[in-house]
Amino acid sequence: MVDYQRQLLDELMGRNRNLDPGAKIKEKTWKDGDNCKFYMHSFCPHDLFVNTRADLGPCAKIHDDETKKQYQEAQRCSRKIDIENEFIRFISNMINEVDRKIVKGKQRLDLMNSKLDQRPISKQAEAVLNISDKISKLVREAEEAGIRGDVDQAQNLMGLCEKLKEDKETLIKQYESCGFNFSETQEKQMEVCETCGAFLIVGDAQSRIDDHLMGKQHIGYTRLRKALEEYKKKQEKEFEERRSGRSSSSGRRSERSRDDRSRHSSSHKDDHRHKRDDRREKDRHRRDRRSRSRDRHRRRSRS
Ligand SMILES: [Zn+2]
Ligand SMILES: [Zn+2]
Repeated sequence: MVDYQRQLLDELMGRNRNLDPGAKIKEKTWKDGDNCKFYMHSFCPHDLFVNTRADLGPCAKIHDDETKKQYQEAQRCSRKIDIENEFIRFISNMINEVDRKIVKGKQRLDLMNSKLDQRPISKQAEAVLNISDKISKLVREAEEAGIRGDVDQAQNLMGLCEKLKEDKETLIKQYESCGFNFSETQEKQMEVCETCGAFLIVGDAQSRIDDHLMGKQHIGYTRLRKALEEYKKKQEKEFEERRSGRSSSSGRRSERSRDDRSRHSSSHKDDHRHKRDDRREKDRHRRDRRSRSRDRHRRRSRS
């Protein structure tokens, strides 16, 4: 029977629908092999990418909320730990795969962009691009003035912007009246989504950006990444708890040598942690920078 038909019947009539009325009903438990482990643990990746390019096809196991509840309430045991590990392995593989796709996508774009950069740019196009850059710079300054509360300055700058926009329009019209097609010289700049690997147009319309962010593929990978991040945080917390628990429970024997040892090892671990924090900080900066530059592009396309 087709999976979804079976699932529908299960939902309507229960999973024991085919048993004789007198037969003893076997209680279902989370340990039954036909349950989807990933669904019980948190979610099934097969549900995330339906009808997208990343579609994994239907899940062959049962998604049942009752057994899921049982599993969630069950004591931590080796079987549960195995399931969690399996889940994390599965989603890590999926994330690694999309990360490789992201790297490849960026390489492709770099290659494309380097070809574009080598292309001679006409004087006219350069003049228009210069004005666009000036406009973006003024808009930024006006925003900063607004944030400072300097309303006069902000208004002055916006006035200048309006003037420059008029100049830009006039220039474009002049060039176009000489048979010069400005839009052709403006290649659409692309970027790769850091979450799902899709190609995006820099400075695209907000509605299309929203469509992407609300799309199954982007949401699916966001969910996978979040689950992995949460798992790592939990691991770190457990590690810290174990570490502090160990150091407080050990005796006061040979106090000095133990102290020396732990000082050494903890400074070593701190070192690691600092490095990790450093890396995280860098990643964050990179992300911020990227989103700033995205905003800039967006603004530029509007100005
Ligand atoms: Zn499943
Ligand atoms: Zn995306």
